[in-house]
Amino acid sequence: PFDVLIVGGGPAGAAAAVYAARKGIRTGVASERFGGQVLDTMGIENFISIKETEGPKFAHALEEHVRDYDVDIMNLQRAKALVPGDGLIEVQLESGASLKSKSVIISTGARWRNINVPGEHEFKNKGVAYCPHCDGPLFKGKRVAVIGGGNSGVEAAIDLAGIVGHVTLIEFDTQLRADAVLQRKLKSLKNVDVFTNAQTTEITGDQKVNGLIYKDRATGESKKVELEGVFIQIGLVPNTDWLKGTVELSKHGEIIVDARGQTSVPGVFAAGDATTVPFKQIIIAAGDGAKAALGAFDHLIRTSAP
Ligand code: FAD
Repeated sequence: PFDVLIVGGGPAGAAAAVYAARKGIRTGVASERFGGQVLDTMGIENFISIKETEGPKFAHALEEHVRDYDVDIMNLQRAKALVPGDGLIEVQLESGASLKSKSVIISTGARWRNINVPGEHEFKNKGVAYCPHCDGPLFKGKRVAVIGGGNSGVEAAIDLAGIVGHVTLIEFDTQLRADAVLQRKLKSLKNVDVFTNAQTTEITGDQKVNGLIYKDRATGESKKVELEGVFIQIGLVPNTDWLKGTVELSKHGEIIVDARGQTSVPGVFAAGDATTVPFKQIIIAAGDGAKAALGAFDHLIRTSAP
């Protein structure tokens, strides 16, 4: 069995693997896609000490770093169930195999909910974005839309309004769903238009995004907004379906962790975008992975025989 088994090979899982392996304990990483969301990213400009890199290059560097250590890397493996036990915790894989470990770190990340309209997929990284902290500065002085009027959409619109030239916020419902304080702040901004009862039907472009078409749901009329960028903010979904009923999750499906990454199940830790830790970013996930590995190590020295 492993001492530490990490499920998920994004920035959180990779950092956890390096930290665990450096303790000289038996470490494994099982993941569907080593690199995680970073593989879908183009420019990364906010990982401190690396001024600028590209997603696939960063993902490759993560794997190279982990391979420097004695870590059992199991790629293309999807976990389907976690079975806590007295001494050993079992992770069952879709392949039918099962892995056992004295401690487990879950770092299965999250995914942005897609709006599924024509243009979204074609213009990903060409004007279609999901993360204002990551891509906001790329649109300095330009016109953007934010789709989604919940807390994340309204926060994104407020954040972007300070960087870009103009923001159009588009909400499907007849009213915004964000907290009142955020809505008040949004209304005070001069360079923001808000359209409610508006259904985005297409993101248009040539090589890059040049506009967005929405249907006014009251009149049925289609309208076009000219712009250079579209931020889709209709939800970040944690990859935690497989944990329902075993590990305590928040109402958003995030794994509830304490300051050391400990979950509700003894010996099971979690890190990164899959957890309740706020602000979903690479550097935060990586730091969180390191913390969970140290948490797991601390757990091991207290509970298992040498
Ligand atoms: P993830 O990166 O999501 O990794 C999850 C891992 O778990 C993957 O290996 C996945 O295959 C695996 N997995 C999932 N389910 C299972 C399962 N059941 N069994 C086994 N394995 C599983 N952040 C920044 O800081 N700067 C940026 O510029 C930036 N740009 C971004 C651009 C885009 C397009 C996207 C999508 C995200 C961006 N982010 C950026 C956010 C950043 O990528 C995430 O915060 C970070 O990757 C989270 O790391 P993680 O390790 O928690 O999870």
